[in-house]
Amino acid sequence: MGNRSLWSRLAGYYRRRAASLVFRRSFLISPQQPLISFTFDDFPRSALVAGGAILNRFGLAGTFYAALNLVGKETASGQIFCLDDLTTLFEQGHELGCHTFSHCDSWNTDPRTFEDSIAKNRAALKGILPDAEFMSFSYPIEMPRPLTKGRIAPYFLSCRGGGQTINTGRIDLNQLSAYFLEKSRDNIQAVKDLIDRNQQERGWLIFATHDISDSPTQFGCTPEFFEHVVRYAVSSGAHILPVVKAIEALGAPGCERVRPSRRLIQAGVRVNRKSTKTTPLVSILIPAFNAQEWIADTLRSAIAQTWERKEIIVVDDGSTDRTLAIARQFESDCVCIVTHKNQGAASTRNRAFSLCRGDYIQWLDADDLLAPDKIARQLAVLGQNGDRKTLLSSEFGQFMYQWQRAHFVRTCLWEDLSPVEWILRKMGQNLYMQTATWLVSRELSEAAGPWDTRMLSDDDGEYFCRVILKSSGTRFVSGAKVYYRSFRSGSLAYLGRSHLKFEAFWLSMHLHTRYLLSLEDTARTREACLLYMQRNMIHFYPERADIVRQAEQLARDLGGELRPPYLSWKYSWIRRAFGWTIAKNTALEMRKIKWSLEKSLDKRIFQVRNRNGRSAIPYTRVALSSDTPPR
Ligand SMILES: [Zn+2]
Repeated sequence: MGNRSLWSRLAGYYRRRAASLVFRRSFLISPQQPLISFTFDDFPRSALVAGGAILNRFGLAGTFYAALNLVGKETASGQIFCLDDLTTLFEQGHELGCHTFSHCDSWNTDPRTFEDSIAKNRAALKGILPDAEFMSFSYPIEMPRPLTKGRIAPYFLSCRGGGQTINTGRIDLNQLSAYFLEKSRDNIQAVKDLIDRNQQERGWLIFATHDISDSPTQFGCTPEFFEHVVRYAVSSGAHILPVVKAIEALGAPGCERVRPSRRLIQAGVRVNRKSTKTTPLVSILIPAFNAQEWIADTLRSAIAQTWERKEIIVVDDGSTDRTLAIARQFESDCVCIVTHKNQGAASTRNRAFSLCRGDYIQWLDADDLLAPDKIARQLAVLGQNGDRKTLLSSEFGQFMYQWQRAHFVRTCLWEDLSPVEWILRKMGQNLYMQTATWLVSRELSEAAGPWDTRMLSDDDGEYFCRVILKSSGTRFVSGAKVYYRSFRSGSLAYLGRSHLKFEAFWLSMHLHTRYLLSLEDTARTREACLLYMQRNMIHFYPERADIVRQAEQLARDLGGELRPPYLSWKYSWIRRAFGWTIAKNTALEMRKIKWSLEKSLDKRIFQVRNRNGRSAIPYTRVALSSDTPPR
């Protein structure tokens, strides 16, 4: 052994030791049961296809560290996974972890470039699976430089290196030790001895390898060998978990950072959704845009639901105020918050639905409130043999600030009705049900199809018409209550001057007509369509002569005709003196002024009452364990 080799051995020793001494996140472990994790670096397809399958056969899952720049490539550890494999990975319950994007060497790369490569890998993942997040990391090729370790630690719950040993006693979450299986693939006894030692010392043994194939590369092992190790690990009585689950089981600091969205994805893509005969899961879906003033109360009213099997999903539609920050304070196991660039209410609702797992869907706008027993009462009427095609509805009352003073005005839609009868009454008598009143089964939601993103106004009116079309009828549940916060300036009474909104509203009217006639084309349904158009002509008159002409044509096709719209006597003298446009705008402006006066008065009273200890939301119980106050 010459000087040179002595020197290189010393250098190697220094490398292995240097980083392990600094930037530690120590944590003392003493699990009831020893822990074992199986991990795969890079990760080759065969790791998932063969290795993942073996784990699954034992009812287990592993952690797969991905370098997304390698996707599909042929590498020293075999062919790397393809994008479709990520879906399979989650379906099979495995965890996805982070390697560097370009698989750069942990020792030979300067810390900044190394950090950039991690940022790239995270960004690439967002581009593929927007709700997925890397929670753990594994160092490629070598041990990290000390500064590298310090730099990247804040990104992850844990970082894993090598070291061919177990983690016991005071472990370092920023540099967990792992045992590479390929180094003992001709010596199963060494592996078994390590499992035994882990058992005696009640430690956490993390196995790592790369490809699992009949002719493995020098970095992998065969399925037989791998299965042998898994079987021995299982028989040892150790608790076998993927890395982040193990950290959660150990109760390590930072594990509360594990975002529910990740779990939702994992659960959401599960292929065989359990059709449990047990309690249905209800998804409360809240699209939110610039609702900082209301979102906290709305969320509290969702969390306070006495129906216990629920998940709450808020999709922030690129709010420019504090909506997202406020909503995030409520994140928990059952409250998931996601955000995307502003794309409108309908897309945001579709996104929320795509993330949910519920058997029933409760739509809830970010300023409305549910009575605590709203969902429970509705599901109670379904009983044991609930027909999934029944559409449940409830009472709703309008308010601005004081929910206690909400006006519940019964209409003839508040009944059990067949689809045709419901749409007929809605159109013929110009009535509506508020969005949150419905409780819709997944089957019915899927049959109705997605929210129509062309609907810049009346998206809910059009959507629920389709839901009703697919239903076997509505079931009205009296006593189940929704508090509908309405300042009316956003309602149909005020379409504003946006041409796109006019057109969307006309499209919705046209579709309503088609839906009703598709169920029944008789004199009474045609009459309802005509009444509906007549009442709503005011929105288009006189500015949108083109739409008025189309409406007149449609009316003639239905065997009737439209009259010029009606304007209250208070404004008809303005119309005579100054013409239609000025008269209509005056009417709208007067209404806006009246509403804003009502609003500020109601707000004032509400503030005074609130100071006197009145609740901001319709609670029935005082203490709610699930109602975590904002941190
Ligand atoms: Zn690697």
